[in-house]
Amino acid sequence: MFVCWLEPWLQKSDLSTTLNHSLGLMARLACGLTMGVAIAFIPNSAIAMQIKVTPTNPKLGDTLRVIAQYDDLSINAAPQVSAGKQTYQTFLTGSNQFRAFVPTTPLDKPGTLTIRATGGGETAEVTVKLADRKFPTQSIRISGSGSDGTDREFDRVDAFKKLVTPEKFWQGGFRRPNQGAITSGYGIRRYYNGVFAKDYYHRGIDYAGAYGSPVVAPAPGRVSLVGRVSEGFKLHGNTIGIDHGQGVTTIYLHLSRINVKEGDFVRSGQVIGAVGATGGVTGPHLHWGLYVNGLSVDPSPWREVGFE
Ligand SMILES: [Zn+2]
Repeated sequence: MFVCWLEPWLQKSDLSTTLNHSLGLMARLACGLTMGVAIAFIPNSAIAMQIKVTPTNPKLGDTLRVIAQYDDLSINAAPQVSAGKQTYQTFLTGSNQFRAFVPTTPLDKPGTLTIRATGGGETAEVTVKLADRKFPTQSIRISGSGSDGTDREFDRVDAFKKLVTPEKFWQGGFRRPNQGAITSGYGIRRYYNGVFAKDYYHRGIDYAGAYGSPVVAPAPGRVSLVGRVSEGFKLHGNTIGIDHGQGVTTIYLHLSRINVKEGDFVRSGQVIGAVGATGGVTGPHLHWGLYVNGLSVDPSPWREVGFE
């Protein structure tokens, strides 16, 4: 009996497997002799994990969907995905397929971003080119200290944004949370008294819905934050936060009315509150923010296409 060991074509032989004609021909050509044994080919295992990132031409503010898939179907350990210095949890989305969301923001540096998946003793890596994007700017004149928030509201909002729960509650695209016109888009940068605020960008979308007009849940989820002016939410105003699962959360600020309580499960389109002017605002509007793994991303792709 002959055993052909042809890296990288042939990784192992298996006497019990029947060769099909083309594989048999390949084996004969490769070995240069005819064998009376059956040989099974398995794919080149030099790349033992595949990694795919969409969108293929991302720009600042986009959510990157990273799919990692092992070649070896028997590996089922969830890999971890890293981008730059950050690491992200992955979740099973199909047979042997894991997905992580990597958030990008206007504060990121455009250029090459290396994305790596590691798990089950395997590593795969891909680079994407994160394109620059010009965001509109506003010039704000402020005198005095402005309106400061309280530690209590920042602590509770920060804890909410960090939620990464294993269930996935949403499906498909997100609805718009209010029917009012958009008055401030995502990512607007600011100058305060002529000085560029390098850490500021508008972390959401403002809808100029009429005072008292309904605010609806754009996707199913669990209400995981309810904060009121009376509890110290001086800057955010009356606030609702919905956890959609797997690191995706949305927040609703400046409400005049809150219809839900923490722990409630809401369905897409359910009225959760009403537009108001509570907190640090100059007039009634809804501020809607969408966070992915703690960072405010552009909600538009979540509305138009959706992510699975
Ligand atoms: Zn806003």
